[in-house]
Order: sequence, then structure tokens, then C-alpha cells
Amino acid sequence: MKEILQDLNTEEIRELVRNAGEKPFRADQIRLGLMQGKRISELPVSPSLRALLCERFEDEPVRILKKYVSADGTQKYLFALADGNVVEGVLMAYKYGNTQCVSTQVGCRMGCKFCASTLNGLIRNLTAGEILSQILVVNREQGGTLKDRAVTNVVLMGSGEPLDNYDNVLRFLRNLTAEDGICISARNVSLSTCGLVPAMYRLADEGIPLNLTISLHATNDEDRARVMPVANAYSVADIMKACAYYFSKTGRRYIFEYSLIEGENCDEAHALALAALMKGKPCHVNLIRLNEVKERTLRSVSEKQAYRFLGILEKNGISATLRRQMGADIGGACGQLRASYLSENKENQGGNQDES
Ligand code: SAH
Repeated sequence: MKEILQDLNTEEIRELVRNAGEKPFRADQIRLGLMQGKRISELPVSPSLRALLCERFEDEPVRILKKYVSADGTQKYLFALADGNVVEGVLMAYKYGNTQCVSTQVGCRMGCKFCASTLNGLIRNLTAGEILSQILVVNREQGGTLKDRAVTNVVLMGSGEPLDNYDNVLRFLRNLTAEDGICISARNVSLSTCGLVPAMYRLADEGIPLNLTISLHATNDEDRARVMPVANAYSVADIMKACAYYFSKTGRRYIFEYSLIEGENCDEAHALALAALMKGKPCHVNLIRLNEVKERTLRSVSEKQAYRFLGILEKNGISATLRRQMGADIGGACGQLRASYLSENKENQGGNQDES
């Protein structure tokens, strides 16, 4: 694979242009065009500079391969990367704007038992520009511009563990929030982690006011390890300490994701344990009924059970919501779309560029 031009920040593009012996304003043209979701071959620069760029960089690092629209309006994208790998993303419409969920890795090595992303392990990290380009191409496809964005909020909750690809994710965040780019405020960005504690401390020290979300799914290490192997490496107690540190550094409330899984974590006792763990902390709990993944045996709870669980948290003074299940009819859960695409296309994986 060639290099990814969208990895570069403004200063690096300036340097590239300088080294090519081109006028400085070319850097602004390149940056602007890229942020509008253009391919290199579409950039409004001289043909010689375009040719130079095309030689070294991927013309179109992220291409929309397929789009599915759910009955509830949720749009799910399957993206093709330049090396033929595919990742997925979702665009969800809320009252306050459109939230795009992006992937940070092809596959994942965290091994959560309910998740489709991790079924074939980690294939590779996405570069910063590949993460950003998912947003740039969707913003363009939706008719958004840099001034009037179609994508207003971003969540790092697609395939992959963002903190397992730390440097690229940080570079992505800096480029996403840069004033001369698509300029999505860090306050409108949520990073979700399965709880890689050392990286949580590192992130707290970066001084980026983004929303930190932790996938908890159980309140004690033994229960948690049954569904999340990462619990063998980092304890719930250590996660809570890292969250407190995050709050002390950023002043931002943190959020816990808790997927309700039949027979695992959704009894009254579990709700009371969760309430006790959350008590007095500057946090919020997002409950979600498990999205059932066909390759997995874990099952969801009924809506009634989910509301009962929510009620117990609320009665105990915990700020909590039951998230609407969006796009379940189009494979809304992490990695489901890629998994079904891969199984349908087993014979011609890699470089498959058929439909769009
Ligand atoms: N690796 C990161 C981000 C990606 S997953 C993390 O673990 O947080 C985004 C969220 O979806 C996580 O809370 C994850 O646990 C949850 N998730 C994954 N598969 C799911 C499923 N089938 N049903 C419900 N939630 C799921």
C-alpha cells in the first residue's frame, strides 16, 4: 500500500509542498480538498503536483463500497480500504445532529465474547488518515461541507479497540479537531475503550476534552472475564481509578457502556452491584440490549427486563439511559457487516472492488 496523504497535518502538507518546490498556497488547496472528501486525482492543483502526489499516496484510501439504510433511518456503510480490507461505520440521526461511528482497526484482538469484530482477530491498525477519511467521505456523500457539516458528532465505537492503536488514533483526533480541517470539536467526540488502563492515563494527560466511554458489562472481575478477556489484564478497581484520574485532568464526566446479556449480567443483584459501584461518581451509564450476533451464543434480554434494570439504577440515584437499538435490522452491532461481507465473499477476498 502507498502512504496515506490524509495522515498528514497542515504543517506536514506545507513541508511536502515546499519540498516539491511548489508555491505555499498549494498546501491550503490540498488540505481543503482532502477535507472536502476529495480523492487526490480530484484536487484542484497543477497536473504535475497531482501526479507527484498520486505516485506516493493512495488516491482514495477509503471508498464507500456499500450502504444500507435501516427502517429507523440509521445508515450503515461498508468501506473498502486501499489494500482490499473492509471496515464498517454507521451514521445515526439524533435531534442534535448526526453521529458517525467509525472503526479504528481492521478486526480486533480483544476477544470480547459478544462482539463480531473480534471473530477473526486483528488484521491491522488503521492509519490516522484512514480513520479520518471514513468521516470525510460520508460527510461528502451526505452533502455536507466544511461549514455545514452532515457529520456533527463522532464516536469511536466501530470495529477495533482505539487505545490499542493509540498513536494513530491520537493523530486522527488532532487532525479531526484542527481548526483548518473539518473541525469537529473534541466535546462532540466519544472514545470507547474496553479498559486498557495505562492508555487511559496517557489519554487523560493529552489535554483533549473528549468524552471517555468504558465498556464495563460487569461489575466484578470474575464475571467480566467471562465475557471480556481483557478483564484478566486490568481489574474493575483499576479502571475506576483511571476514570477518576481522567475526570481530575479533564473535568469531563465519563460514561459506562453496559450491554445486557441474558443469564450473565442482568439480574437485580447485578443492577444493585452496578449502582453501588457508580454511586457518587461523575458518570453516566448507558444500557444497551445486546445485539445478537449470529456467530455468537450470547443472547439479549427482553425490553421489559432492560427497563426493570434501568429502574433499579434510577431508584438508586444513578444517571442512566437505555439506548435505543438502532439499525438492528441492518447488522448494527460492531463488526457484523464486515463479518457477513467476508463470509459472502470468501472466495475473492482482498482487492475485491465490485459494487458501490
Ligand atoms: N473496543 C471499544 C470500542 C468498540 S465496541 C470498546 O470495547 O469499547 C463499542 C461498544 O459496543 C462497546 O461497548 C462494545 O462492548 C459494544 N458491543 C460490541 N458488540 C456488541 C453487541 N453485539 N451488542 C451490544 N454491544 C456490543
